[in-house]
Amino acid sequence: MQLRYKYRLDPAPRHRAALARAFGCARVVFNDGLRARQIAYAAELPYLSDAQLSARLTCAKRTPERAWLNEVSAVVLQQALADLNAAYRNYFASMTGKRAGPKVGPPRFRSRKDHRQAIRFTANARFKILPNGKLRLPKVGAVPVRWSRLLPSEPSSVTVIKDAAGRYFASFVVETGPRALPEIKPVVGIDLGLAHFVVLSDGRKIHSPQFLRRAEMKLRRSHRALSRKRKGSHNRNKARAKVARAHARVADARRDFHHQLSTALIRDNQAVAVEDLAVKALGRTRMAKSVHDAGWSAFVAMLEYKSRLYGREFHRIGRFEPTSQTCCQCGTKGGRKPLHVRTWRCGKCGAWLDRDINAAVNVAKAAGLAVTTCGAQVRPGPAPAPRSEAGTHPRPR
Ligand SMILES: [Zn+2]
Repeated sequence: MQLRYKYRLDPAPRHRAALARAFGCARVVFNDGLRARQIAYAAELPYLSDAQLSARLTCAKRTPERAWLNEVSAVVLQQALADLNAAYRNYFASMTGKRAGPKVGPPRFRSRKDHRQAIRFTANARFKILPNGKLRLPKVGAVPVRWSRLLPSEPSSVTVIKDAAGRYFASFVVETGPRALPEIKPVVGIDLGLAHFVVLSDGRKIHSPQFLRRAEMKLRRSHRALSRKRKGSHNRNKARAKVARAHARVADARRDFHHQLSTALIRDNQAVAVEDLAVKALGRTRMAKSVHDAGWSAFVAMLEYKSRLYGREFHRIGRFEPTSQTCCQCGTKGGRKPLHVRTWRCGKCGAWLDRDINAAVNVAKAAGLAVTTCGAQVRPGPAPAPRSEAGTHPRPR
């Protein structure tokens, strides 16, 4: 299986210029391909195949208008087309319901102003890690790398990324065999929560770390400050750079948290089960969806690849299971409950249940995992809803 290893790059001004050119060329090739397919579609012509787009690129490089594409590695341009083809495949698969997870829209044009610029070099491009530790990229040069951890083996490709904060990264793909961990007994169902980041079927509720929540709040404030600045003004540009840096910090902190939690869950359980996010989203307001889904899908993706890597079972509950409505003790459906109902009593067996833990137990059961239901039982009595979940309407912006 494939793993990614990401490191900071410290490109010199000449490297930055060459990378800017490569980002630009990859973008043009991507957009040319997208436009060609859109024109064919509008004219009711057949879908342009991957090979046809590739042939068009070869021709375009011979024309004076696109001759400058020859200044960058040909592999970078082929990979831009591969990205376009993958975006189309994901879109078609999502449209026909063959792809799990949130809906994917049609590919969109790339812009110079996109927050993230990226190009990919495969082994064909003959990129190389030099004995002095620099990364040699064709038609760019030898770029210094901050080797923060060991690269376990020869990488098969490298993606060079420039983020919104102006930082450069190299993300290497490394092929590795599974490293199965010794088999253990515990299994767990996971409910992706709103008041808590996740709730586990064993009764544990896990928050995002305090610093991350604080950083996210600060980010929202700096967004508001940005929107008050006049368009095109010097102050606005300064504020935008500040927001971009805050974004980068929050994204890094969130990724670290996801890594630590997913590693712990995979290490401590033989099998994990989560609800499909598309299913989960049905019960959500638009606001809550936009805030939480991005983080969750990254986290669930980590659970999935780590379970493959360490030889654990991963289950995604894709069918529509009303996990928060069904009593996990006796299986009776209790009907829909508004979000402020945190605990409820099963009308059939009389058990008092914690809404979220009950859902997590049901996720595990739907996956066929043998979990105990005792974690879901609570002492009777109404519990006040946490403030963040009490509202049934999204707060006005
Ligand atoms: Zn019951």
